[in-house]
Amino acid sequence: MIMSNEIINEKFSELGLSSGVLSAVREAGYENPTPIQLKSIPHLLEGKDILGIAQTGTGKTAGFTLPMIEILAAGRARARMPRSLILEPTRELAAQVAENFSTYGKNHKLTMALLIGGVSFVEQNEKLDRGVDVLIATPGRLLDQFERGRILLADIKLLVVDEADRMLDMGFIPDIEKIMNLLPYIRQTAMFSATMPSEVQRLADSYMVNPIKIEVAPQKIAAETVTQKLYIIDGGKLEKQNTLLHLIKKENVKNAIVFCNRKRDVRTVDQALRKNGLNAQALHGDLPQSVRTGTLEKFRLGKINVLVASDVAARGLDIDEMSHVFNYDVPTNADDYIHRIGRTGRAGKEGHAITLVTSDDEKYVQQIEQNIGHKLNKEKIDNKHKIINSRKNQSKSLKVEQKGKNKTNKPQKKTNEKKKRNIEENKKNTIGMGDHIPAFLQK
Ligand code: AMP
Repeated sequence: MIMSNEIINEKFSELGLSSGVLSAVREAGYENPTPIQLKSIPHLLEGKDILGIAQTGTGKTAGFTLPMIEILAAGRARARMPRSLILEPTRELAAQVAENFSTYGKNHKLTMALLIGGVSFVEQNEKLDRGVDVLIATPGRLLDQFERGRILLADIKLLVVDEADRMLDMGFIPDIEKIMNLLPYIRQTAMFSATMPSEVQRLADSYMVNPIKIEVAPQKIAAETVTQKLYIIDGGKLEKQNTLLHLIKKENVKNAIVFCNRKRDVRTVDQALRKNGLNAQALHGDLPQSVRTGTLEKFRLGKINVLVASDVAARGLDIDEMSHVFNYDVPTNADDYIHRIGRTGRAGKEGHAITLVTSDDEKYVQQIEQNIGHKLNKEKIDNKHKIINSRKNQSKSLKVEQKGKNKTNKPQKKTNEKKKRNIEENKKNTIGMGDHIPAFLQK
């Protein structure tokens, strides 16, 4: 079992891949296979079922697409009967896998169709009618098309279920089971999942034959190139929005994703940023696919600088040179934190992950810190966006309090108004804020 995500010094050429695939891999700029590739490629080429415990970012997509290209190179597709099927939980991941397929399969004449919401059915159906080697789909859309009689699944010899635990989170397991029952019994199956909840294990036990289990260490740590910081804020939504705006302006942001936990916040934060002159756009699951695809494309091309998104953009999205990730909300699932901040600092580039924290987020911050195995760097920020250096201000605030006490005991006749205002200001910046800071958030 390989327990490291590092690229190992072994050659792609030793894995049994053909020269056409090897040259496509070389052109993609890969020198050595990643551990998941090293383990999965030879087994898949041998026709075995595999159960891969690996997250996005480990190179798992090439781990299954490269051998698939080899396997599918022999044989021809028949009309409406795809020869292989890749199931993805989201449209974005499906589209990304399709892109990978085109890159790695550039020296092969394989055909591919994409069945996801929003992508024109006319075009995809024409492809299906001509016959495709690979069908990449989200479960609901696939079933929908199957039930309309537009597609036959009787010729599927190779099935990949990607991100199985995510499918579970999204309630897709019944659909996956339905699909599995429509496929030929004799086929090869590969399933990938970042974690192995019992439901996913049960799926593997029921629908796979003696799968080889491959595990790479879960990516509990963010890339070393990502600087992580938590800002503790006091106040409601407006305060959060103002702080976010301030930080985006203060930081040297080239391009950023701002993650929100709820779709309605995606909308309001996006509006607030745009109202303040930022080149932002929203991305969440309720938007039509054409809009989602268009937004992502504009973001990739740098025509939009800030993407305000739900977790639909957290996993797998591979955008070069993203300078910042902002968590407008602390993610309630500790793994999502890793996924979200993994959008920056990719391929050895410098990245920044900034998280806004309120007093309601206590347990989620604790879970994240437990998950990543260390405490995160925290700073308190007041409603004037001043960073409060707790130690210095604590002693100051003590003086302020003592002075105040003296004053009440021995009131002076004439009060210097300016001094008084300063003291009040200091109190607001220190004591008031400190009152609301949960102990666990103090450094
Ligand atoms: P994945 O986990 O499949 O989403 O891949 C994550 C990223 O790693 C993608 O940007 C791939 O292009 C890249 N990648 C995949 N395999 C390799 C490799 N052997 N060497 C370098 N980069 C790779």
